[in-house]
Amino acid sequence: MRHRMPVVFVSHGAPDALLNAPDAVDCWRELGQQVPQPTAILVVSAHWEARRPTLSLADIPETIHDFSGFPPALYRMQYRSPGAPALAERAASLLSAAGLIADLHPSRGLDHGAWAPHSVMYPHASIPVTQLSLVLNASAAAHVALGRALAPLRDEGVLIVASGAITHNFGWLDIHAQVEAAPLPQAQLFTDWVAARVAAQDVDGLLAYRSAPHGADAHPSEEHFMPFFVALGAANGDAPERFRPRFTYGALAMDAYIWRG
Ligand code: ZN
Repeated sequence: MRHRMPVVFVSHGAPDALLNAPDAVDCWRELGQQVPQPTAILVVSAHWEARRPTLSLADIPETIHDFSGFPPALYRMQYRSPGAPALAERAASLLSAAGLIADLHPSRGLDHGAWAPHSVMYPHASIPVTQLSLVLNASAAAHVALGRALAPLRDEGVLIVASGAITHNFGWLDIHAQVEAAPLPQAQLFTDWVAARVAAQDVDGLLAYRSAPHGADAHPSEEHFMPFFVALGAANGDAPERFRPRFTYGALAMDAYIWRG
């Protein structure tokens, strides 16, 4: 009998995290080693929003370089995992059963929020992957519901990976800051508040994050925090474990979480 698969949340940081955030890269590698081998992966990233939850049917997802102004080495990177169209259809049927109408996209590839951590977690790119979109302008609670509806996939050998950010305020970013700069107090405070609420399994508290200290400032727009709520829903009450790679640029928390089945 198969074990229930964990749920993973990673902070993907800036697009060049692969090149210069060694703590985060080590964390992603460790996560890949700790998770039992999945049959397939469903990844939701901050960098794909759609009017309805949408799943990719791509047979071989394209590596999308959805950033500009970074070193050429990043644009040469390719993550050529097989796609997981059958998983996309299965996920859509689970969402439908939960009253959430999902769309299927014929060819959407993996954005950097998806392929960057996967290229470290699963460097052999042998595990089929499909990407799920966020829902444009939908609430944190709606994203928890999305994750909850997908939780049965965990009993089918599927790893659910959510890739976003615990703090994502470009106004906090100092372009002259070193990657390893000490965290801003407000970024550290909010990150630790999230960690305390996660440890207490206080989903309602997390849903009200905008009222938390620096909560609204940590996310002037919400899309980078929404994958976290999908993970919370899919975790469905399992106990969390926090990973704490160093902040990058003093502003971007790189925390990761795993909820084990
Ligand atoms: Zn991002």
